[in-house]
Amino acid sequence: MRLFDEHAVLRFAILFACLLFAAFIPDILNFNAHVLSLVSYFVAIAFLAYISMFYKFPSSGSSKKIRNDLEIPENVSNDTVRDYQKDLHEKDELFKMVVDVSSDGFWTFDVPTGKVYWSSRVAKLLGMDPSQVGDSFDLIKNLVIESDWGKFRAALNESLNEDKPFTVTLGLLSQKAGEKNIVVTGRPQMNDDGRPIRVIGSLGVFMDKASIERQNYSFVYQDPLTGVNNRKFFLEKLKIEVELGVKRPDYSFAVALLDIDSFGAINASYSTNFGDNVLRIVSDRIKGSCRDNDCVARIGPDVFAVILHNIQGANSEDELLPIVRRLHNNVKTPIQLEGKELYISVSMAVVVNREADCVEDIMANANAVLRDLKKNGEHGNIQFFTGGIREKAMKLYKLEYEIRRAIQAKEFVLMYQPIVDIGNGDKIVGFEALVRWNNTEQGIISPAEFIPIAEETGLIVPMGALILKMACEQTKKWVDMGYKNIKVAVNFSAKQFALENMVDDVKKVLAETHLNPQNLKLEITEYTAMCEVEKTIDIMRALSSMGLQISIDDFGTGYSSLSYLKRYPVHTLKMDKSFIDHVAEDEEDATFAKMVIGIAKSLNLDLIAEGVETADQLEFLRREGCCQIQGYYFSKPLNPEDALGYLQEHYNEAVTPVAAEVVA
Ligand code: C2E
Ligand code: MG
Ligand code: MG
Repeated sequence: MRLFDEHAVLRFAILFACLLFAAFIPDILNFNAHVLSLVSYFVAIAFLAYISMFYKFPSSGSSKKIRNDLEIPENVSNDTVRDYQKDLHEKDELFKMVVDVSSDGFWTFDVPTGKVYWSSRVAKLLGMDPSQVGDSFDLIKNLVIESDWGKFRAALNESLNEDKPFTVTLGLLSQKAGEKNIVVTGRPQMNDDGRPIRVIGSLGVFMDKASIERQNYSFVYQDPLTGVNNRKFFLEKLKIEVELGVKRPDYSFAVALLDIDSFGAINASYSTNFGDNVLRIVSDRIKGSCRDNDCVARIGPDVFAVILHNIQGANSEDELLPIVRRLHNNVKTPIQLEGKELYISVSMAVVVNREADCVEDIMANANAVLRDLKKNGEHGNIQFFTGGIREKAMKLYKLEYEIRRAIQAKEFVLMYQPIVDIGNGDKIVGFEALVRWNNTEQGIISPAEFIPIAEETGLIVPMGALILKMACEQTKKWVDMGYKNIKVAVNFSAKQFALENMVDDVKKVLAETHLNPQNLKLEITEYTAMCEVEKTIDIMRALSSMGLQISIDDFGTGYSSLSYLKRYPVHTLKMDKSFIDHVAEDEEDATFAKMVIGIAKSLNLDLIAEGVETADQLEFLRREGCCQIQGYYFSKPLNPEDALGYLQEHYNEAVTPVAAEVVA
């Protein structure tokens, strides 16, 4: 420590000289000095006083201690501190950006104040809470072994004194950090006088070989979203299991695929973030339901796979079923997430290793089972692989290809089934448009054979667009012939209804075909209507505000709650054929049909009974007050020419063709 500050002494001396000069002023005035001498006398005093008060002396190279353990050069003036802060402030944004993109942590040491700023990445790298890092080098002191702390201090001091960068590798004490070391680098920054004002440095975690290997392993074999194994790991593990099965004929294992149904709809109706959390919950549930040595993996966006290792004792389907059912039940338990209760449906395919002896066959079998489940509309079920499924799968692939080709070749045609009002002299009120595939080799193919595949593959979207256009064009022709109030119903699948631009697409087709929306009805099944309630209601509102009517098809087969139904802006319910079939002779069916008629009446909706074939059925419906009938009793679906014939016979309103109207 120094006794005197030489600058202060010098200032004091000059000030003293000023005072001395000033003391002679009365004498000088008495001598009647020349006015110029007087002026220069006072200017000299003022000059000396200014120097003593404000002059900045050049630095002399001394130093002072700011922290008890680090030698910090002195003479960093307040102005420099201010400049430094301003400078930092100006570059703050840029600095933050650099810090954010780097995988290392950053630190800055403010020499005048001794404060250290640690970037948030430092806390992350060290596995600490950001509030714990503090604002001094104590962070390092507390984390590293004692000798390394000394090493760090020496490197920092040397760097400050000699203006050179440093890099030190320090061993971490903390158990949490495992076998990690940290690498700290620093570079001092000097002011114009060559004094250090700050040190900027980085802090990175240096991993030993074992840690690096562990990290590489998780990159290659783990699903980053859920933490379970990924597809690559699953296939490698499956290969090992298959080889074991080949070597030891008594060894059995099973593969289960779990496919979350309509996962896209979960993402679309909530958010992808919500969907991600659903996947995490599902993966946790699967892990929790399996033994430690079973392999759980996520092998597709919404598909999980499990290898049930060594299932001796559960060889038959009957023995294995309780195990897979428990897993299935755990997974599909309603999910409570973000204050919502979500019901998920999971389709599950199970393959036992006896049925295939290579990875490819096992996976092809499992995928064929999943497809079969979906094709049969048995989403959410468990199904075991059986021999015939692969052949069926091959047929399905062929069919899918054929449908694609048929859309291009415009092989789909529409039939029109009349809908009749028995309360009004069996007058025709409209048609339902029903698609048929006019296949060059096989002739007319029923929609039951291709609609499920078209739905599953998404081909229903282009096919549906084609159908809507054809139906609108045909209806417009009938309207122009004078059947102005005819309504044609077009079936819409769930996938079409969920399309982002669905409403605009319908509008576009109406505009292109010049059809009045009042001549068009859209039919969606009860199941579709219940899928995404809020979104469905919005779409229905938009459609009905255009003047279009909406029917709920196959009513009674789903589980629509009446409270929802009340909120839907629908116009018509179509009672499913299965309830009509035995209505004349089965008491239960009759009661159910009466109930549906009651619901339609109380909600003030039109009701159409579908699939009416006999006079007894018709009589029952007439008695109960259901007037609109569709069924073979009146007519099978007809081609457009025959449909026109039916129209001419049963349309009991005035028929004024558009051309005639124009002339009139
Ligand atoms: P849906 O919409 O419920 O259509 C009624 C089905 O019942 C039609 O079968 C119709 O021919 C049949 N049907 C009507 N009355 C009777 C009857 O008295 N007896 C019997 N046995 N059947 C009767 P289709 O045309 O085979 O259509 C079956 C299903 O295929 C339709 O059920 C609908 O879900 C779907 N579908 C048909 N056309 C289309 C379409 O253009 N688009 C979409 N997405 N689906 C369609
Ligand atoms: Mg229908
Ligand atoms: Mg129906």
